[in-house]
Amino acid sequence: MSPSALIPVTETPTPPTAPALFHEWSAYLKPEDLSQIQAAYHFSESAHEGQFRKSGEPYIAHPLAVASILGEWHLDSQALTAALLHDVVEDTEVTKNEIAEQFGRPVAELVDGVSKLDRIQFDSQEKAQAENFRKMLLAMARDVRVMLIKLADRLHNMRTLDAVHPEKRQRIARETLEIYAPIANRLGLNSIYQEMEDLSFRHLFPDRYRVLAKAVRTARGNRREVVGKVLEGIERKLREHGIEAQVQGREKHLHSVYRKMREKHLSFAQVHDVFGFRIIVRDNMACYLALGLLHSLYKPIPGKFKDYIAIPKANGYQSLHTTLFGPFGSPIEIQIRTSDMHKIAEAGVASHWLYKSSDTSLSELQQKTHQWLQSLLEMQSESGDSIEFLEHLKVDLFPDEVYVFTPKGKIMSLPRGATSVDFAYAVHTDIGNRCVAVKINQELMPLRTELRNGDRVEIITASHAKPNPLWLNFVATAKARAHIRHFLKTMHFSESVQLGSRLLQQALSNFKFTLTEVSDGKWDKLVRDSSAKSREEILSDIGLGKRLAVVVAHQLLARSEPLPDETRSGGVVIVRGSEGFAVQFARCCGPIPGDPIIGIISKGQGMVIHTHDCPVAAKGNRDPDRVLDVQWDANPTKLFDVGIRLVVANQRGVLAKVAAEIAAAESNIQNVAVDPDDGGTYTVMRFTVQVMNRIHLARIVRDLRKIPEVVRISRTKG
Ligand code: MN
Repeated sequence: MSPSALIPVTETPTPPTAPALFHEWSAYLKPEDLSQIQAAYHFSESAHEGQFRKSGEPYIAHPLAVASILGEWHLDSQALTAALLHDVVEDTEVTKNEIAEQFGRPVAELVDGVSKLDRIQFDSQEKAQAENFRKMLLAMARDVRVMLIKLADRLHNMRTLDAVHPEKRQRIARETLEIYAPIANRLGLNSIYQEMEDLSFRHLFPDRYRVLAKAVRTARGNRREVVGKVLEGIERKLREHGIEAQVQGREKHLHSVYRKMREKHLSFAQVHDVFGFRIIVRDNMACYLALGLLHSLYKPIPGKFKDYIAIPKANGYQSLHTTLFGPFGSPIEIQIRTSDMHKIAEAGVASHWLYKSSDTSLSELQQKTHQWLQSLLEMQSESGDSIEFLEHLKVDLFPDEVYVFTPKGKIMSLPRGATSVDFAYAVHTDIGNRCVAVKINQELMPLRTELRNGDRVEIITASHAKPNPLWLNFVATAKARAHIRHFLKTMHFSESVQLGSRLLQQALSNFKFTLTEVSDGKWDKLVRDSSAKSREEILSDIGLGKRLAVVVAHQLLARSEPLPDETRSGGVVIVRGSEGFAVQFARCCGPIPGDPIIGIISKGQGMVIHTHDCPVAAKGNRDPDRVLDVQWDANPTKLFDVGIRLVVANQRGVLAKVAAEIAAAESNIQNVAVDPDDGGTYTVMRFTVQVMNRIHLARIVRDLRKIPEVVRISRTKG
């Protein structure tokens, strides 16, 4: 390769047209996969119809360019399909379900994953938060293909940033530099990483970029003769010793030159490695042989040699680096690597798709990533540090942590499985000790709710509130557990007795009993049977969470298992956590299995189950003792009433069609109401139907959508 083939200063490639891309992809995809991609292209084109990019192009140019970038890595057809559709859910009327129906569940999941990332913006100015934010994004991506699509999306947006308003341009460029470029680097996507950094640099500091770019161009011109001489010298030396090698001239990307100048306080003239050379050989041994030959050709600069073959960088990068005293006294930087190392160095995690035979069928979640990790592991099995190296990568790609936002936008990391109570204690012990309720993404949720990546969590506290012993059943962090236990332990005996009495009273009231009505005989028997010292000790145990109030209530009333009839339907508990209560399902929100629920104990009514987002429940009391964390039983056998509202074309026979579909979906119609015919084009029908759960309801809705006259369907509440 001649020195004139130096990698140029950032230039934006024009994306190919759709037909050209289809032709390109046909080289590695099966015909049926390609036709799905073509279908996705037309679907996306009509969904984005009438939308335009800031540059004035029709919107479809963007998803097409994103798919084009992914095609360069030979990503599979699911990923390319998802890339073409990646903005339709966010920007058009199309739903995730429609995508699933037309293009399959895996594609819909990929699109959904990208949309979720789009909704999260990095607005913190704190540098320290950037790392957590990157981890959160990686964790949210789950399937590494989601991140690859997102990176390609961002790369194309960066390439076309000139058309965007200057203020937004700054924000996007900063976010790219702080968040996305480092992620690309971590995944080993070197060329994308460099391009992102250079583009960010250009938009954040246009003047510095211009000056530096000019300086590099001039330097390159000045040193052309030197470079040619060196290249020739290296090639001859390697040839003489029978080492097959490809020698390339190489230019450092501008941002890395800039970074070096800033970090080491150098002037441009002091930065020597504006360009260097890359030598690609057949195997590891040849790397070291080539190194020896080069060191005999020109003297190495002491302290500049680095062996990233024996000790790879965390993203899998491997090479030998050395700097030599070149002719005329100018130092030359050299990288030596095998072609396998070169592939990983350029494409990182994507190299798996790029260099794998196309017959690998469906790529299941993360399978590819595991294979990539595996191939890296094999590559450095001789190098000793491999386990540590792999662990490092794993932590990045599959973190055991979830990352959530505080109301002020700070990011907190918690172990997987952590609940709102864990979060509360992580913020501050006082917050934990006084928490009574939680809002997750603005919705009131049970305290036991497991947190997910990207959740915005707001704890509601009350000054009189105290830790509930029942929390010990679900907290995931040692910190929360320790604080709850500590609080319970330091409670005075009299306090725990008091708390125990209150809990027991509450449990008894569900059997229409009061504590005073329990006879001394029953108490004595219970104390004897449970080998406790006294009645107070039992009450204190309840207060400390060592005994369950409901169980003690049963024992006192001489009712052992089974539970009273009202909590059961057909002998099965429907709502876990409601044992001992008469259960009703709230009419305001009509919860069905699958809906997140909370239980509210209301006077004289036992427990009423609401959906977690029910406005009626939210408006009601905040008394922590009356809101219980409950969950649906795994398989409730009862049928539940649910309301659905249909807007249909006003045509003869449509009611019969709808009714027939509902019956065919194994549901019963409990009630029908049709708006009086006012001669309009559309009419509204309201049904109350019986379903087993949300999945059943979703199936009915899906079947009803297939009726041509049906225009809109929604679930009604209240
Ligand atoms: Mn996009």
